[in-house]
Amino acid sequence: MIEFQSVSKQYSPDAYALRDVTINIAKGELVYLAGPSGAGKSTLMKMVAAVERPTSGVVTVNGQDIGRIRKAGIPFLRRNLGLIFQHQRLLNDRNILANVMLPLLVTGAPKAQAEGRARAALDKVGLGDRARALPLELSGGEQQRVAIARAIVNRPQIILADEPTANLDRAAADRVIEALRAFNAVGVTCVISTHDEQVLDGAARVIHLEHGQLVGGGA
Ligand code: ADP
Ligand code: ADP
Repeated sequence: MIEFQSVSKQYSPDAYALRDVTINIAKGELVYLAGPSGAGKSTLMKMVAAVERPTSGVVTVNGQDIGRIRKAGIPFLRRNLGLIFQHQRLLNDRNILANVMLPLLVTGAPKAQAEGRARAALDKVGLGDRARALPLELSGGEQQRVAIARAIVNRPQIILADEPTANLDRAAADRVIEALRAFNAVGVTCVISTHDEQVLDGAARVIHLEHGQLVGGGA
């Protein structure tokens, strides 16, 4: 479902963010991305979402070659991706139900249908009873679960979560991972980057990057 074939990424001629990375992530897999800050984890995820393109090598997502994808094809690619990236903040001027409905309204879903699905998504992350709360009335962990609900409300086949447990305490981090695992359990492919040793300990597969190179969990 996600394939990297000898992929390198250079943001400038003398610096590699990724170097000769080959990985294969199958449909329905749950994969963690580990490695120190600057190892290339975000760069890898950005390439899956066609935010960045490879300098060399081939990235394929759902059969599409990211290096050759046209601008017009990017919205179609992203429709199949649930993105939980750190810079994608919730909109603080509206309640969490409205935040989660937004991706559906943007694609033209009728309001009643969008509300039904957004409520179902909030239920799945354990926030069904907080629909009318404003983002800033929630804890950091609850806000992160709203971001998960917003990311999955379009029923994507793949979830990409960049450090979703950063700055959360143990209990909140565990609930965030639990929410992501629940979607994986119904068939959604999940790629989650984390520094959280406790999360990595129980993981079936960890792709480990250092200085842009794969040091474990590849192929
Ligand atoms: P991680 O997510 O593991 O912290 P990143 O993928 O963000 O790693 O960064 C990998 C390397 O690429 C780092 O050396 C970082 O400074 C560099 N880098 C990331 N984004 C850019 C960019 N837009 N321009 C230049 N260098 C970048
Ligand atoms: P509904 O049919 O009302 O959308 P569901 O219980 O089937 O209710 O889904 C609840 C939420 O979980 C929905 O908003 C849906 O978008 C989200 N979801 C995302 N991916 C999946 C999936 N693969 N299977 C089930 N639900 C998913």
